[in-house]
Amino acid sequence: MSQHHPIIVIGGGAAGIIAAWKAASHGARVLLLERNNKLGIKLLISGGGKCNITHAGPMEEVRAAFVPHEARFLKPSFYKFSNDDIVRMMEDAGVTTYIRPNGRVFPVSGNADDVVNALAGYLKKAGVEVRVKARASEVLRREDSVRGLRIGNETMDSEHIIIATGGSSYPKTGTTGDGFEWARALGHTIVPVRPALAPIGVEPKLLSDWRGVALRGGCLMVFADGRKLTEWRDDILFSHEGITGPAALEVSRVAAEAMQSHDVELRFDFFPQKNFNQVDDELNRLVLSKRDRMISSLLESWLPNRLVPAVLQSVGVDAAKRGHVLTREERRKIVQLLKDWKLGNVSAINIERGEVTAGGVALDEVDPKSMRSRKVKGLYLCGEVLDIAGPVGGYNLQAAFSTGFVAGETAATDWLASQSD
Ligand SMILES: Cc1cc2nc3c(=O)[nH]c(=O)nc-3n(C[C@H](O)[C@H](O)[C@H](O)COP(=O)(O)OP(=O)(O)OC[C@H]3O[C@@H](n4cnc5c(N)ncnc54)[C@H](O)[C@@H]3O)c2cc1C
Repeated sequence: MSQHHPIIVIGGGAAGIIAAWKAASHGARVLLLERNNKLGIKLLISGGGKCNITHAGPMEEVRAAFVPHEARFLKPSFYKFSNDDIVRMMEDAGVTTYIRPNGRVFPVSGNADDVVNALAGYLKKAGVEVRVKARASEVLRREDSVRGLRIGNETMDSEHIIIATGGSSYPKTGTTGDGFEWARALGHTIVPVRPALAPIGVEPKLLSDWRGVALRGGCLMVFADGRKLTEWRDDILFSHEGITGPAALEVSRVAAEAMQSHDVELRFDFFPQKNFNQVDDELNRLVLSKRDRMISSLLESWLPNRLVPAVLQSVGVDAAKRGHVLTREERRKIVQLLKDWKLGNVSAINIERGEVTAGGVALDEVDPKSMRSRKVKGLYLCGEVLDIAGPVGGYNLQAAFSTGFVAGETAATDWLASQSD
């Protein structure tokens, strides 16, 4: 005999936990299924284990960080469950938070465990039944409505199912894109899934002795066919495959999309706040003030030491040359490189290593005010399984919390309405 559950939430991450809690706090009996042996594994690794739970500021500004169609979709849920709401939930559970100068909100303890434990406490208080090591394998439908799901050989009946299975990045954390497959089988369009917030492989391989070198305060630019597609001012870090760090993660989504049909080139401006002539004047002043110093040692005051030989070599300037014999032409070549350093072409961006997945269930097939599927009755979708991918900074968890809140509330309301029918 299969068991009946009024509401089942599949996926015990940020979106699923909030959805289950919200639905149960309306009085519904809720079962939360998680395939891992504990809840919130991705929450635990987020923000480098410190968990950047949200982004501070007016919700209109938080929303504006998303690409326009995602921002439009998120509006109703962001106003129903805001950054202040998740912070209040944390504080009420004894997890004090603080805001970094860049707007990112973290628990003071710097420990993501505290966030997950607080959320688990809410589930317990609301009476949610949590089943771990429970991987759903199929969502079942009867005509235009959901009727239950399968876990291996077991069938569970339910007329209200919330899919909160996340994306398909970091598959070892349990997110292997199961929700995409079910949603597709149930008639939803899946916007092609692509990496976002991922490290970028560069070809030709960057010098291995640059590994670990960080470039701070510059601007990373993405070009295709000589046209600049995007840029991001922040740090980059050289890795064994290419580059990572905040600027690389931020541009990775655009680069991954463009590389489907173009050769994509990465360039770097060391001094984005200054134009060519300003940098040239400064270098000239530096050279004149220390005329007997080698150009390599002068540049070491501007760039990480390990990069200087390569920079000089690629513009054909002898590193041992003294300032007073450096020609104007050579100086301008150095400046040209500092303003527009061609790092190489993008060779690979792996979805597995992205912090989020771009693409997913098409947003026009889900009602943003309720998270109800427009295709199947009794189905609700929330979190990263949707075609939403925000930037670094707490935006993605906020999107998961807000959409999860709305999905839980709607499922409970629909279930209550079905009881009085
Ligand atoms: C390394 C890293 C760092 C990050 N740092 C931040 C950060 O600091 N701030 C921020 O805002 N965002 C961050 N993110 C992104 C953020 O973690 C996600 O966007 C967010 O967790 C998505 O929430 P979700 O609930 O939709 O999905 P998830 O949190 O991924 O949860 C989905 C859950 O569903 C479960 N599941 C999947 N399939 C099944 C199935 N068939 N049956 C049962 N259960 C299933 C999974 O095991 C998983 O637990 C980071 C991501 C990564 C990978």
